[in-house]
Amino acid sequence: MKIRILSGKKGAPEGSGAAAQEPAAETHPGRIVIRRDLVTEDRYQRFRLIRWWEQEILANARVLVIGAGALGNEVLKNLALLGVGQIVLFDLDRIEDSNLTRSVLFRQSDVGRYKADAAAEEVSELNPDCHVVPIVGNINYDLGLGVIANADVVIGCLDNIEARFRLNRACYRLGKLFIDAGLDHLNGDVRVYHGADRPCYECGLNEYDRRTLEKQMSCLKLARAEGKGRAIPTVPTVSSIIAGLQVQIAVRHLHGLAIPSGRRLGMYGLSDVWFDNELLISDSCATHNWVDPIDANDIRELPLSAQTATCNDLLHYVEAELGTEATIQIEDRDLVIAFHCASCDESRPHFDLLGRASEEQARCPECGETRAPVLLPELKRDHPYGDKTLLEVGIPPAHVLVARNREGFEYRAFALAKDFSNYWKPRQKQSGS
Ligand SMILES: [Zn+2]
Ligand SMILES: [Zn+2]
Repeated sequence: MKIRILSGKKGAPEGSGAAAQEPAAETHPGRIVIRRDLVTEDRYQRFRLIRWWEQEILANARVLVIGAGALGNEVLKNLALLGVGQIVLFDLDRIEDSNLTRSVLFRQSDVGRYKADAAAEEVSELNPDCHVVPIVGNINYDLGLGVIANADVVIGCLDNIEARFRLNRACYRLGKLFIDAGLDHLNGDVRVYHGADRPCYECGLNEYDRRTLEKQMSCLKLARAEGKGRAIPTVPTVSSIIAGLQVQIAVRHLHGLAIPSGRRLGMYGLSDVWFDNELLISDSCATHNWVDPIDANDIRELPLSAQTATCNDLLHYVEAELGTEATIQIEDRDLVIAFHCASCDESRPHFDLLGRASEEQARCPECGETRAPVLLPELKRDHPYGDKTLLEVGIPPAHVLVARNREGFEYRAFALAKDFSNYWKPRQKQSGS
């Protein structure tokens, strides 16, 4: 009797649903045909030979990947091959020709598409066990804290200081493991940040970084006409090495094994010299000095979505817990609610986020002067914009907000939990291997 093994490609398209209804082994006269795509335990057989490996842990894991560039592609490829169950992928950009030399998930025909969409599609193709949610968005504005709170690990594949700074602060607040990395020429490094009692990304910023960051985040900043960021010279070989290290650290963390927390590991690609530096908490780190961590277990999950709930809807729940005149702090973003023209002495409503509102939008339609943004520091009862949805005033889906009572001594965190299911699925049951 012959036994023939067919690959998944020869059967019904993966994920089409049609395959799942067919028996795993069909009997034909004189031979048994085994459909490899249906014998799912076989795919991970080599991993299971590692003594401590638990494939179910990876199948149940939730990994948040920020950035789908050179590093992001390699990170995603590895997560797919490893059978990581859930991935949320954030990226804002579209694919350009110059990305194709460092992006294993992109094809020539993908040029012009969003990186997040093309990468997610290819990850599902590589491994249908991986559920990927692509989000085309800017992490500075569109990433709700609840997405991070519900992830097991955050992998940073970024190329600029501001995005790293904001992601670091969000991960710090929630005590979430943040595995950051950077590339430059043939060099690369991985930095592992985890929790308030360890160094964070901001601790390691030098004077030049801080000045760059201040310039980017200055209070009166309006978005300038879109310009290209600095193109970093790099090659696919080093992104593959560094992303491999990031994901391997994530796999160890998921298994509860030791990780190089508070360390910076990397290599000089022209000399093959590897380094391993201890990072230190900086006395002047504003994140460590001023940002209060949120205990994930104390977050109240509300049945609200940023897209449909108004500011007053949220206040309704907050006041029920903290009493009337409770206020919701807006700590991690600057909400613009109007522009004020000093020359005309006139304010007009405009809802946006500082940094996203453009200089063009700030120009006074009457006199042409640049108007000053009017910011909303907190949400409270009887606010004139209380009937605006949270999304309209600049609060992202699945966000976590901290509110305090009138006297200001009781604080509580609230999550827009109705949005969670757009990012993460319930975890599978442990099959107990
Ligand atoms: Zn710090
Ligand atoms: Zn004016």
